[in-house]
Amino acid sequence: MNQAAPDLTTHLIHHPYQPPADFVALQPAVHKASTVVFPNVAAMRERRWLDKSSYTYGLHGTPTTYQLEERLCTLEGGKQCLLVPSGLAAIATVSLSLLHAGDEVLIPDNAYGPNKSLAQAELLQWGIQHVFYDPMDVGDLAEKISKRTRLVWLEAPGSVSMEFPDLPAMVALCRARGVISALDNTWGAGLAFKPFDLHGDGSGSLGVDISVQALTKYPSGGGDVLMGSVITRDQALHLRLKLTHMRLGFGVSGNDAETVLRSLPSIALRYRAHDVAARELALWLQQHPAVAQVLHPALAGAPGHAHWQALCGPANGGQGAAAGLFSVVIDARHSQQQVDLLCDSLRLFKLGYSWGGPVSLVVPYEIESMRDRPVPHLLPGIVVRFNVGLEAVQDLRADLAQAMQKAFPA
Ligand SMILES: *Cc1c(COP(=O)(O)O)cnc(C)c1O
Repeated sequence: MNQAAPDLTTHLIHHPYQPPADFVALQPAVHKASTVVFPNVAAMRERRWLDKSSYTYGLHGTPTTYQLEERLCTLEGGKQCLLVPSGLAAIATVSLSLLHAGDEVLIPDNAYGPNKSLAQAELLQWGIQHVFYDPMDVGDLAEKISKRTRLVWLEAPGSVSMEFPDLPAMVALCRARGVISALDNTWGAGLAFKPFDLHGDGSGSLGVDISVQALTKYPSGGGDVLMGSVITRDQALHLRLKLTHMRLGFGVSGNDAETVLRSLPSIALRYRAHDVAARELALWLQQHPAVAQVLHPALAGAPGHAHWQALCGPANGGQGAAAGLFSVVIDARHSQQQVDLLCDSLRLFKLGYSWGGPVSLVVPYEIESMRDRPVPHLLPGIVVRFNVGLEAVQDLRADLAQAMQKAFPA
């Protein structure tokens, strides 16, 4: 019996045309797949994805995600990388993988808020305890590490209040006590300092065990992608995290991975531009009579400035490196309404969370409700955080000047 010609639909799905194989372009391709096909059953049984030697299923990696992982390892000085759907998912992957009932996790009191909420709401219901430590006191961390401590979170500087901790001392302490250290390296982005080489001498003799980043911020740089990474230097630790990652089903889209691959070549230039503009505006705001305190780790007098200087100071020919973020404390003699008026009056600075994209952003914060311990180094007043984008700095300064004038008329 003759086999009938396939139906048009089938023909469109199983089309015989194959483009020539010798296409070579500079930009990595977007590979999108759930299903990956095998030539035969034997190959299907043999394929391995754990060591990235091949492909089995879209969730376990494609050429696009493998390439992004390798470049991110280069950025941070790590050896293995996992991609997850957001920065928060990167934090969650680490905590969910390494903590079990009866364990304890230590989190800096100034940590990214959702990291604290994860511990308070999700981890606790599975019998995992958390303790918040003073990020500016290595002695406090030393006291709080107990026999049940399995993981110490670190962040440099802290979200919103921007204190820069003594990271090398804290990591050395974790090492000495045999506790895994995980750094939220979103601010440093692999550019301000090397998380796996905190002595900065290339020896790698002191480094965190895990560095997570919200790729959402500087690696994406566009404000249009949500993604996170979990980077390690130890294969056994990586495999532990990778199995949790696989079981939880965390994948990222090929289009998003390609967008980050497209942005990575300009990350150092962008980071430097954000940094230069942010420092200029922070210094300008420091002169304003309504501003009680400027919280930017590169500014003399800011909380943890000496620690920033030691770790990030040598970059950029001694100018140091910092992200485009800073906060100010508006003097307590001014009202919440005035601070709200400041934020509402800004035109180039938009009201919105996140950072790292081209557009400048502003957020007023209620710092008291975010902290579980007193914060003596913060002067009384209301905290406003600025993310400096890539607009011309003189336009941003003019925008700040007009809004400050409206909110705090001389
Ligand atoms: C934004 C951010 C995250 C979370 O990233 P998402 O991709 O928004 O989930 C984590 N840590 C820090 C310090 C951040 O700024």
